[in-house]
Amino acid sequence: MTSEFIYAQPVKIFFGQGEFQKLGAVLDELGVTRAVLCCGRHFAPQASLLMEKEPRIAAVFTEVEQNPQLSGITETTRLCRVHAADGVIGIGGGSSLDTAKFAAAVAPNPGEPIDYYEGKRPLNAQNRLPVVAVPTTAGTGSEVTQVSVVSHGTEKKTINNPAFMPAAAIVDPLLSASVPPRTTMNTGLDAMAHALEGYWSRNHQPIPDLMAIEAVRLILGNLERAYRDGGDLEARSSMALAALLGGLSFALPKTAASHACSYPLSEDYHLPHGEACAFTLDSLVKINADERLEHLCHAVGLKDTDELAARIRALKALGGLRSRLSDLGDVDLAKLCRDCAAHPLMKNNPVSLDEEALREMFEALA
Ligand code: NAD
Repeated sequence: MTSEFIYAQPVKIFFGQGEFQKLGAVLDELGVTRAVLCCGRHFAPQASLLMEKEPRIAAVFTEVEQNPQLSGITETTRLCRVHAADGVIGIGGGSSLDTAKFAAAVAPNPGEPIDYYEGKRPLNAQNRLPVVAVPTTAGTGSEVTQVSVVSHGTEKKTINNPAFMPAAAIVDPLLSASVPPRTTMNTGLDAMAHALEGYWSRNHQPIPDLMAIEAVRLILGNLERAYRDGGDLEARSSMALAALLGGLSFALPKTAASHACSYPLSEDYHLPHGEACAFTLDSLVKINADERLEHLCHAVGLKDTDELAARIRALKALGGLRSRLSDLGDVDLAKLCRDCAAHPLMKNNPVSLDEEALREMFEALA
């Protein structure tokens, strides 16, 4: 019997090759007249051209870093205030989208981003600037989530709040054609982690479950192709759709153990987000194997959960991703297990994993 659930998805999504051309129309629809554009350095040359073409872009912040720092959010917020912006455009990977979402939530309110980061002021979903989120990697799904992941010094924090939900998402696979192979693999496996974790989360729901299955099917069929040939637009389109579906699969159920472990792996061993999620993902497929996961495997054309774990391992190896403890240098295993076990997302994992169980998992990766 299906138990009760509430499903809501408030972001208007424009998907397809060339859809980025609709940016002006989307800004019109949202009533945005002065926007701040926030992106990473890879998009800086296009940002200048875009600014010449699109008079509604009042200012551009092009310094978003990977694992974005609070300082970039503070600067984007400042630009929004100086230019009296009534909207924010985030173009880039999850780092740029999360920066745009956070700045847009703070700009029309009193105080600085640090106050909201530290929880000294409450975020207010009723008073924020609308965000147009334009992903250029196929991974995070940040364009459809109310999550912003931000680092302050060495601390990396996930803040989950309705104030961060974008107003619109433009998912144009053409924008991802320039993503280098290694980032293609990292981000593609991040999307795989979203789909699997949304699916096996203790809070899983029927609608996200279906999206998760389709996301996994698309990733298994297209990630290797996109990695080997970035110009393969069919594979890029499928991966862009997979990442979007991956975002929708975890937006409500939330992620679980692989994401919980990704935080210490990024903070202490500096793995990019997708690589950090992938580090434990195949181990967790085995740990979390049950009838539901077998069902997903059959639905995507795999024999069983062992084959799913092997496919993930093969993708990691193809991309040259770090996958053994020895790849991380000098590891403090006790601290790693303690930090992973203490992460709030660990509670969503279908199998309870304490420090001892995590030690066993990591030791098998020695
Ligand atoms: P990223 O945004 O850090 O980008 C990775 C690198 O790729 C950067 O150097 C960027 O400039 C470059 N890049 C991006 N698009 C490119 C393109 N089209 N061509 C060439 N280079 C390009 O990486 P990401 O994996 O997309 O995002 C990771 C961040 O998102 C992490 O901070 C992670 O914690 C966060 N995240 C957020 C959510 C959410 O729901 N908000 C979900 C998952 C992850």
